[in-house]
Amino acid sequence: MTSATWPRSTDPIGREHVRAALDLLDGTTNGILQGPVACVPGQGTLHAWLDALDLEGGNDPHDVISATLKHVRGANVHTTHRRYFGLFNPAPIIWGEVADMIAARVNPQLAVWSHAPAAVEVEEHTLRFIARHLGIAPAMGCFTSGGEEANRCAVHVGLARAFPRYAEDGIRSLERQPVLYASELSHLAWLKIAPMLGIGRAAVRLVPVDAELRLDVHALQAQIRQDRTAGLQPFFVCATAGTTSAGTIDPLTEIAHIAASEGLHFHVDAAWAGAVALCRPWKHLLTGIARADSVTVDAHKWLSQPMGIGMFLTPHPAALQHAFGVSASYMPGSIADTRDYYRSSPMWSRRWVGLRLFLSLAVGGRVTFEAQIARDIELGHHLRARLAQSGWEVVNRTELPIVCFTDATRARDAAWHESVAEHVVQSGDAWISTVRLRSQSALRACITNWQSGLDDVTHLVDSLERARATRA
Ligand SMILES: *Cc1c(COP(=O)(O)O)cnc(C)c1O
Repeated sequence: MTSATWPRSTDPIGREHVRAALDLLDGTTNGILQGPVACVPGQGTLHAWLDALDLEGGNDPHDVISATLKHVRGANVHTTHRRYFGLFNPAPIIWGEVADMIAARVNPQLAVWSHAPAAVEVEEHTLRFIARHLGIAPAMGCFTSGGEEANRCAVHVGLARAFPRYAEDGIRSLERQPVLYASELSHLAWLKIAPMLGIGRAAVRLVPVDAELRLDVHALQAQIRQDRTAGLQPFFVCATAGTTSAGTIDPLTEIAHIAASEGLHFHVDAAWAGAVALCRPWKHLLTGIARADSVTVDAHKWLSQPMGIGMFLTPHPAALQHAFGVSASYMPGSIADTRDYYRSSPMWSRRWVGLRLFLSLAVGGRVTFEAQIARDIELGHHLRARLAQSGWEVVNRTELPIVCFTDATRARDAAWHESVAEHVVQSGDAWISTVRLRSQSALRACITNWQSGLDDVTHLVDSLERARATRA
């Protein structure tokens, strides 16, 4: 039975629990890697297990942890599996995991510098390093929960820059409806961000893409003209560097140019592909990003960190302070030349997530990310070649490791693509998905795990062959 207090993690009994949990976790990890990539049973077993637990009186720790691991192994899409070719969810690297243990144990409060000088400086140093490689230094910013929150910061800061009364008097003080632009292949979190910030979904213009699946700059210019004529106020344009569905990169330099001449805030959503900034052989793909007024990069995608870490960066510190500025009498006071995150970011209390990326860089260095990213890109090219050999038609053009492909005779048949993906997923061989690119349906496979290798690609292509034969 449980005692009425908590064991301390440093006492012998506490250490025993931690070690036992780690042993169980290792067993689960090995099981996941050898088992099917996706296991999605019904709710019944999960509810039965949860309902039987005594949340009033407590339960045996070993039983709870082993049952939790058993169920998470048996009811999960295993995004850490080498043959998960999915939606950017990586297998976290070891230093991200170690950082999480340290952050949980020390639990610093990052809201004000004076509470956590070491933790804040570690984050600042890491953000500056990333900003320098993106070419947007000097920059300010913050770690976020992910790309959506970083993009939300961008719109908020963009509004504060465009409308001096916005932060004080709110949206109702604006004389015209603000409008923001992103491509139809952009990440659609805009449709949540706009209502959350009070400007409404009507503020979002999804601009068509061209034949290369990149934001069509002529369509953008035409839409801006039309909106101005209609009495609306364009204020923000987002270029996506690495679209979620097809890995294509919008023409950053051209969009930067349009933003400058139209007086728009130029945001680059590089949630996934921003990682390429750390890879010298490929960083030219991001040419133009240095002109951004703000950038989103997720560390829980291609930088292989555990979930819950994105970055928002901007070269406009004054706008950041204006957008998020606040002070509270119960908070410790500021110290000159230091950052209080609660006054310049959306956060108040927040986990020390930046430690993950810091430890990874401090131990492995940029060079280890460079090698990983270059290998992933090479593996993507290999997958492309193998698919072409097997008679699939690749329909997206990108150097990045997202491959969208179809059977030429089925290009418009969404249901067929779904049934092929489903066959692959049900077989347990791999996890892939489907996408729609303009009017075309396709299958989508993305290299997201730094441990995936040639044999995994072969396994995927073989599984696709079996699926195609069954779903002829
Ligand atoms: C994943 C993604 C997002 C959203 O990021 P989350 O971390 O899931 O909140 C935004 N933009 C792009 C381009 C993405 O790929």
